[in-house]
Amino acid sequence: MRKINPHDFKIARRGTSREINRQIALNLIRAHQPVSRADLARLMNVRRGVASLLVSELLDEGLIFEGAVGEAVGRGRRPTFLYIDSRQRCVVGVDIRASRTYILVTDLMGRQLGTVSSFQTPKDGDLLTQELARRVKQVLASHKDVGACAGVGVAVPGMVDLGAGSVLHAPTLGWHNVNLRDPLTALIGIPVHIENSGKACVLAQLWATRADVVGSGNLVFVSVSDGLGVGVVVNGELLRGKHNTAGEFGHVPLNIDGPRCSCGATGCWEAYVSNLATLSRYFGRELSDSGPKPTATFTIEDLIARARAGDAKAMAAINSSARYLGLGLASIINALDPSRIFIGGEITTAWSLIEPIVRSAVKERVLTEFGGSTEIHVVPAEEHPRLRGAVALVAAPAFAAPMVA
Ligand SMILES: [Zn+2]
Repeated sequence: MRKINPHDFKIARRGTSREINRQIALNLIRAHQPVSRADLARLMNVRRGVASLLVSELLDEGLIFEGAVGEAVGRGRRPTFLYIDSRQRCVVGVDIRASRTYILVTDLMGRQLGTVSSFQTPKDGDLLTQELARRVKQVLASHKDVGACAGVGVAVPGMVDLGAGSVLHAPTLGWHNVNLRDPLTALIGIPVHIENSGKACVLAQLWATRADVVGSGNLVFVSVSDGLGVGVVVNGELLRGKHNTAGEFGHVPLNIDGPRCSCGATGCWEAYVSNLATLSRYFGRELSDSGPKPTATFTIEDLIARARAGDAKAMAAINSSARYLGLGLASIINALDPSRIFIGGEITTAWSLIEPIVRSAVKERVLTEFGGSTEIHVVPAEEHPRLRGAVALVAAPAFAAPMVA
């Protein structure tokens, strides 16, 4: 997907697709709403008549609507403001993790409607598909007022074959080649889009209308949960690689003699930083120990609460994860030179405690001075970045620029 940059774009002229101008108009309205036709024409650097024509088309298709009336300039007519019409369509976002699966309903702009619900993730793919279908139908039935569902976006903790709609390998779930998209679509009767959670998260940031984000085309999202997912954007494009499996920094080893990782190898970055790794460190047990995982009863939030309450062992477990997080971030900075790194996950609720440790570990290992000052931003847990990522899988393509030769 190519993102239109509303601050630096070339308007398509005769001979190029009219569709591109429509998408530029749609993106500008989304980024600047409420916006008048005159403002839109100015933003697009086209004559008022050209903008009005595009607006009429978008109005006819129900993609935008006219709202409040603005102040008249001079003796002119009072302008009406344009908005993206996100009112009568909703999106369901699903975040599958090894421990629990979360569900959220939003409008087409990604605004949260209602509360997040969750259930324990069945390890069997068929059972998960059936339970998920049942829950999604239930959630939609209780949100009848939000209109038709445009699609279900599913962020999964593994690599995704986009053609087949299957999960190629999800280490924390122990899944190989699990068909998810088509069975789920068949059961729910609504289009389902699936993608790796790290990729979904970075896609959501790319889609965000924040001007400072749009202006920089090199972003990395590190999602710390039961595992560790990474999504990479280079020059405004999601890095997929040949098989859509690029970006698996979580399975780059920090130390080959390190703890056993969910992928079967030893010493992966994930095996040092994931929530399960931090909890295992606290309980003094091996990450690969069989039996019930510590998250079943005691979560990373509980651990962070103990650290805040002065439990030195809890603080030490979190501090170690913070240091390993920083060391891995330094590798990402050295390898990709991003302008900004986003971090999401429960560990960010302890950011005020761990930030100095993360940053000093980054500085210890980066190869240049500017590498050490790479922007690191925390996406607050209450923004539910993985669910937002899942929603972006459905909502973002509507605003994506078509590729041109
Ligand atoms: Zn691994």
